[in-house]
Amino acid sequence: MPNIVVVGAQWGDEGKGKVVDLLTEHAQVVVRFQGGNNAGHTLVVGGQKTVLHLIPSGILHSGKTCVIGNGVVIDPTVLMKEIDALKSRGFLADARQLLISSHAHVIFPWHKHLDALREKSRAGSAIGTTGRGIGPAYEDKVGRRGIRVADLLDATRLKRRVHERLGPASEEIFQLARAAKVPEPLLEEGDIIREYSELGERLREYVADTSLYLSEKVRKGTRILFEGAQGTLLDVDHGTYPFVTSSNCVAGNAAVGSGLGPTSIDRVLGITKAYTTRVGQGPFPTELSDELGERLRKVGDEFGATTGRPRRCGWLDVVVLRYATRVNGLWGLALTKMDVLSGLESVKICTSYELDGQRIEELPGDYEDLGRVKPVYEELPGWDKRLAGSRTLEDLPEAAQRYVRRIEELCGIPVVCVSVGADRGETILLANPYHA
Ligand code: GDP
Repeated sequence: MPNIVVVGAQWGDEGKGKVVDLLTEHAQVVVRFQGGNNAGHTLVVGGQKTVLHLIPSGILHSGKTCVIGNGVVIDPTVLMKEIDALKSRGFLADARQLLISSHAHVIFPWHKHLDALREKSRAGSAIGTTGRGIGPAYEDKVGRRGIRVADLLDATRLKRRVHERLGPASEEIFQLARAAKVPEPLLEEGDIIREYSELGERLREYVADTSLYLSEKVRKGTRILFEGAQGTLLDVDHGTYPFVTSSNCVAGNAAVGSGLGPTSIDRVLGITKAYTTRVGQGPFPTELSDELGERLRKVGDEFGATTGRPRRCGWLDVVVLRYATRVNGLWGLALTKMDVLSGLESVKICTSYELDGQRIEELPGDYEDLGRVKPVYEELPGWDKRLAGSRTLEDLPEAAQRYVRRIEELCGIPVVCVSVGADRGETILLANPYHA
């Protein structure tokens, strides 16, 4: 009974939500293991759009359990809003469908203010954070001063912990606000304690020892799907540091962030767009800063689900994909947004880079160099036909089939899924990771 991890193989926004939604049909439990509400999965089911930031997209399927693991940082206000919105649409009728780790760390208002003010103070060298407090919450976790979900459920402990943390955080906020010449935000200790206590009470029915729950599921052979957020190149260790997110997005963290051993993971599926996008700052070798990039942004609707920010767009980069294959141990690739490339006379794939006159096949060890590499392209014929109606590989125009096959050859792993539209049905599943 395989347990599968789905990860982004690029800089995030690859369409993981759609693939997870598809695979959920074959799994009983879906787990988020890192990140926070900086992720934004957009799902379109029967023409109706749902954007989820914290709750695994599997919640739209009845009879599945969704787990928010210990590795996630939780903004309880956002989580409660998602729960209410889902309930009002008839989902999550049974509270046992959602389990929240008591070990997950909580985002407080000071984290959000610190995030926004620090980003402001970086001025020209801003990282491009979403300003949701994720980074500062992870900093507190690693600094061993964080407040966890379990703390929300104990009024006395919560009061003490908020009191301990608010002073130092307010001091830094005051300094940053003064330097930025913006009004200092009001952080009322009593209000925060009251609000978070109430949120804790509302969340109580979902809080559990999720590591124990999952290990029992593993023992029984229940199929688990681990849903990664962001993408490999945004991983705090393996991404384009410092323009990265504050957690590990690679597959190995699925074990750590859910409280299971690595032997519980059987397969890793990497999601990649048929081209490349990136939000915020940082190197992006195949970026197209011309009309073609604009076209990809427009046709692909490349604007962030969480922030609305326009994404930078460029050709597919298989140097990046080979790297993602290596650091995640990818078993296969799901190729999304193939439809966006329709109508181009030719399409390009970056197969290697040139750095200081030398051809290199791997990402440079020093990410500073990634900003200097020149992409080496292979050009393939494009295709005209709309792809949305394609349901098998043979339905695709020959040039599109060739594009898929070439990606497989260059990456050395199979493309097991090709997505040709946003809807659940607009998918060609070549091999099901749960059955293959
Ligand atoms: P995620 O965070 O990786 O789940 O990605 P996002 O949800 O931020 O972005 C993916 C976007 O692409 C969403 O709006 C999806 O509905 C959409 N999408 C996914 N697959 C396809 C596809 O094959 N074609 C098109 N046109 N859109 C897609």
